Amino acid sequence: MSPVLTLVALVAGAGLLLAAGGGSCDEPVEILSSLAINGSRYGWPLAGPIVVTSTYGWRVRNGKDEFHPGVDFHAVEATPVYAVEAGVVVGVDVAGVGNGRFNGNAVSVRGDSGVFWHYLHFSRMSCRVGPRVRVARGQRLGWSGHTGLADAPHLHLQASVLVTGADGRRRAQTVDPLDLFPIPRRVT
Ligand SMILES: [Zn+2]
Repeated sequence: MSPVLTLVALVAGAGLLLAAGGGSCDEPVEILSSLAINGSRYGWPLAGPIVVTSTYGWRVRNGKDEFHPGVDFHAVEATPVYAVEAGVVVGVDVAGVGNGRFNGNAVSVRGDSGVFWHYLHFSRMSCRVGPRVRVARGQRLGWSGHTGLADAPHLHLQASVLVTGADGRRRAQTVDPLDLFPIPRRVT
C-alpha cells in the first residue's frame, strides 16, 4: 500500500470504531498483576521494559507525512501482550482474512472506562472472532509480531474515545494512549 493510501486508511479507520464484531479469548492462564500502574486503572501491555519507538501524532514515514494514531512499543517477535484495562472484546481481525478494520492480526477491547483499545500486529493471538467476552486487565491477548502495516515486530497500541460533534452525533476519536497513563513518558 502506498504511503498516501496508508494515511487514508488510517484516518478512515477512525470512523469505523463501532463496527459490529466481537471476540473471545483463551481463559487466562495467568493474569499479570505486576503490570498495574500505581494510581491508575490501567496497566502496561508488556512485562518487560517499556520502550516507545514511535509516538502518537504526525510523523514522517518513507518520506511522507502520516498521522500515527497510536503508540508503538518495542517488542521482539512473540513477546506476550497483555490487556491494559479490563473490558469486552469487540473485535478480532485476522491477518489475510480482512474481516475487520485492520489488515493484520488485531484485538479490540472496549475498556470499562469507555476507552476503546486496539492492539495490532500480533504474530499469534489468544483471541478469535466469536461472541463478545470479557478480558481482565493483565490478561494475555496474544504475542507480538509484524502482521499488517508493520516493518518490524512491535506492539501498536491505539486508544479511541467517543466524542459528540457539533452536529450532536457521536463519533470515535483517537487519543494519545500515553496521556491516559499518569506517569511521565519514557521515549527513546
Ligand atoms: Zn504504530
